[in-house]
Amino acid sequence: MAGSERVAIVTGGASGIGAACARRLAEEGVRVVIADIDKKAGEALANDLGAAKNRALFVSCDVADKLSVANLMAETLSAFGQLDILINNAAILAKGDILSLELADFDKVIGVNLRGAFLVARACARQMTRQIEEDDTRGDDARRRYAIVNMSSINAVVSIADQLAYSTSKGALNQMTKSMALSLAPYGIRVNAIGPGSVNTDILKAVNEDKAAMEAVLSRTPLARIADPDEIASIAWFLACKESSYITGTCIYADGGRLALNYVMK
Ligand code: NAD
Repeated sequence: MAGSERVAIVTGGASGIGAACARRLAEEGVRVVIADIDKKAGEALANDLGAAKNRALFVSCDVADKLSVANLMAETLSAFGQLDILINNAAILAKGDILSLELADFDKVIGVNLRGAFLVARACARQMTRQIEEDDTRGDDARRRYAIVNMSSINAVVSIADQLAYSTSKGALNQMTKSMALSLAPYGIRVNAIGPGSVNTDILKAVNEDKAAMEAVLSRTPLARIADPDEIASIAWFLACKESSYITGTCIYADGGRLALNYVMK
């Protein structure tokens, strides 16, 4: 029987947007499993969020690896006995367009951003449906409890030529979000995506260090600033909580107004 306190997995939860999501969920009383390849940062965050009091847990996990994902689920259930929320967030970049991108880099990005998102989502969806069937919690209880949030990107719909693999992975993730939402709606499990614009994290390091690149980003962002990770985490919490109980199968773009512009990205 699933307890009333909810349990979340946040992949890529050791830094950036994932860490902000883990913090926000913990503030909202959710017990959080941080799944990441970065053991040092992941353990430090889990300790900060109350690992000693069984409020948080770090699990070393490569989302692209099936056995690693199976272990993530086993460790989550062993520590907390249930799973109610997934923030499917881990992703990487690789520079390269259709002429220059190496197959190995294409495979790596698709492996983490799409295959990894699929492996984790499938493991979590199977666990959630199992709990719903065991507890008979379809309907109102399920609507309150279960949610999957896929971390997409504005690049799902606005392409960057030299981020071919990344843009492709995020476009596919949006389609996967809709397919998952259809399959899981009968259980009351909601599945949505978030499409951030530019957010101040390590993934944006190259842009942060290049004045011209940053000016280009700001020039195509009507709010004229990049986002703080907390501004994305608040949407993740909204999509995971009952305030969004009638929203499923969609993507919320948090892009400072960029999609309102008809702009060619370079
Ligand atoms: P980040 O690089 O700060 O964090 C990514 C985290 O994922 C890191 O902790 C990293 O260790 C982890 N990770 C990488 N490969 C992994 C793997 N194989 N298994 C498990 N964990 C792995 O990046 P971020 O900006 O916080 O990005 C988080 C999400 O937000 C990503 O899905 C990214 O595509 C999306 N996003 C970010 C921006 C932005 O501007 N920062 C914009 C749009 C979308």
